[in-house]
Amino acid sequence: MMATNGEKACGVKDESSVSSNGAFGSNSPSAAVNGAAKEASPASKLQNGGAEAAKRFTFTSEPTIEDIRRLQAEFTDERDWNQFHQPRNLLLAMVGEVGEVSELFQWRGEVAEGLPDWTESEREQLGQELSDVLIYLVELAEKCHVDLPQAVLRKMALNRLKYPASKVHGSAKKYTEYKD
Ligand SMILES: [Mg+2]
Repeated sequence: MMATNGEKACGVKDESSVSSNGAFGSNSPSAAVNGAAKEASPASKLQNGGAEAAKRFTFTSEPTIEDIRRLQAEFTDERDWNQFHQPRNLLLAMVGEVGEVSELFQWRGEVAEGLPDWTESEREQLGQELSDVLIYLVELAEKCHVDLPQAVLRKMALNRLKYPASKVHGSAKKYTEYKD
């Protein structure tokens, strides 16, 4: 039943929907996932950051979050699927997609940065599932009238206050465990 099937209703598994839009250059999804693996040194394979920060993987600058919102809005409008995309449905669909990301990591044990042992097909699948999560997240924020780009800046400012670098450097403790 289309109306209650999150993937069908959203269409994010339809590769022709978003990824075929040529507005954002020629990078393939797999290329976007692959970059870090090719540049990662042995020392950076098991841990993030640290001395390897200068070589950190970066994204292309487009599409912006607003671009993604607009493209998905166009996709749903063209299919008259807004009637199915209420906030609760979008939340449940997003959680389902998080589960699909989890399936790709399931039973592998720890995975090194850059996914050096993954096949091209597995990288491509990961890029698709992460995109599903992002598309639903952006649409959920839209339908809740949360301006996500501004909200994330405010939240990151709060995180900096909650976890002052001078106090937490190199520690993974929760903020409640730190003493002044
Ligand atoms: Mg999916």
